[in-house]
Amino acid sequence: MRILILGGTGEAVELARRLTPVHAVIYSLAGKGKIPDLTCAVRVGGFGGGDGLAAFLRANHIELLIDATHPFAAQISHNAVHAADAAAVPLWAYQRPAWSPEPGDDWRRVADWSEIITALAGFKRPFFTIGLEPLRHDAEIPLDQYWLVRCLAAQPLVSPRLTLLCATGPFKREHEVALMRDYRIDVLVAKNSGGRAVEAKLIAARQLGVEVVMLERPILPVVERTFDEIRSLAAELS
Ligand code: NAP
Repeated sequence: MRILILGGTGEAVELARRLTPVHAVIYSLAGKGKIPDLTCAVRVGGFGGGDGLAAFLRANHIELLIDATHPFAAQISHNAVHAADAAAVPLWAYQRPAWSPEPGDDWRRVADWSEIITALAGFKRPFFTIGLEPLRHDAEIPLDQYWLVRCLAAQPLVSPRLTLLCATGPFKREHEVALMRDYRIDVLVAKNSGGRAVEAKLIAARQLGVEVVMLERPILPVVERTFDEIRSLAAELS
């Protein structure tokens, strides 16, 4: 079968590796991160919206589209629904299970940036692990706060009132505990990505009694079949 995987996550890479021996797989990346080491065909860059993706499906005679993108990459998931419909190609999705609070956790769930800022009132030293968004608001850092921001790629330093760390997971619990202690973090701001690779910060926050402001996931479109395990998705195609 000719399969297009919309990727950009570790699980998508795993899926491509499992399907490649049996199917003609094309693995697609937006182009923001590293290109994984795969033996299937790999393409990089946007398609030009849902219509562009539909055209790609037709031109490459794709028989199954699999959306294995990150749960916060909502635009491409909506484009996939549009394209699959337009090109009459079945669409399956892998959706990584979300995190849930465990005993000892103190979470405040928020939906967007303004709710994050409201939830942070009263805290002094937040640690942001939600990508680049805090850097767009560096001029709005409250006078009683100092921010620690971790993101994937180096960015120009924007404000003397924040520290910017560039690092890629996975991170170990001991590393996260030491980091939060060193920076005297009193609240962790995370997005509900789910998965093991960056979960250690939640375990560290639990250990240190640090509260968590959790950005909830965008609502993703409903697709024909949804899997929460790569293994079971791959088994359907074996
Ligand atoms: P997004 O907002 O949903 O998509 C923005 C645009 O990027 C899409 O409209 C599409 O461009 C292009 N695009 C996204 N994923 C693509 C893919 N797999 N192949 C080809 N084009 C793609 O996505 P995002 O949040 O910027 O994330 C970009 C990529 O990084 C995704 O593949 C995602 O899996 C990965 N990622 C995202 C996050 C996150 O927190 N958002 C975290 C880890 C990894 P066109 O409209 O031109 O087709």
